[in-house]
Amino acid sequence: MPGARLGENWPPPKTGAQNTEKGHKMPSKTPAINPLSACPCGSQKSLASCCQPYIQGQSWPETAEQLMRSRYSAHVLLAIDYLWDTWSPEQRLRSSKSDIQQWAQSCEWLGLQILATDNGQKSDQEGTVEFVALFRQNGQAHQHHERSLFRKSLGKWLYVDHRD
Ligand SMILES: [Zn+2]
Repeated sequence: MPGARLGENWPPPKTGAQNTEKGHKMPSKTPAINPLSACPCGSQKSLASCCQPYIQGQSWPETAEQLMRSRYSAHVLLAIDYLWDTWSPEQRLRSSKSDIQQWAQSCEWLGLQILATDNGQKSDQEGTVEFVALFRQNGQAHQHHERSLFRKSLGKWLYVDHRD
């Protein structure tokens, strides 16, 4: 999100003389996280049996809610490529991967609650998901309430934008 203030975790702490070019690279891969740990999206399933296969490109979400959940988890896991790939082309024009990364990294993600879904099932072409995401940024707790629009493109669900 443009204009979002960066949190204290960004830029990453430098390690003095050991800081090489490696430290300047954008981590584009999902951090190593135990696949058996609870999925960040709050589904009460393990990461491996919930959002991880989507984030790692092994399968594509079948419903708008699955995409919504996996995009939340991708923020937690800093899976920037996944966030980028699941955005509609219009959104990509207005932003960049580094914007997404700065936003995701500036937040400490505290939880996701799905409030309602409308269409967005396997056989639909469009659907909305209303949710609240809780996060902390600059020491302040925030609640992001959004009704997101999702649309299928070439058989794959993509995040279009929010409908308030
Ligand atoms: Zn999940």
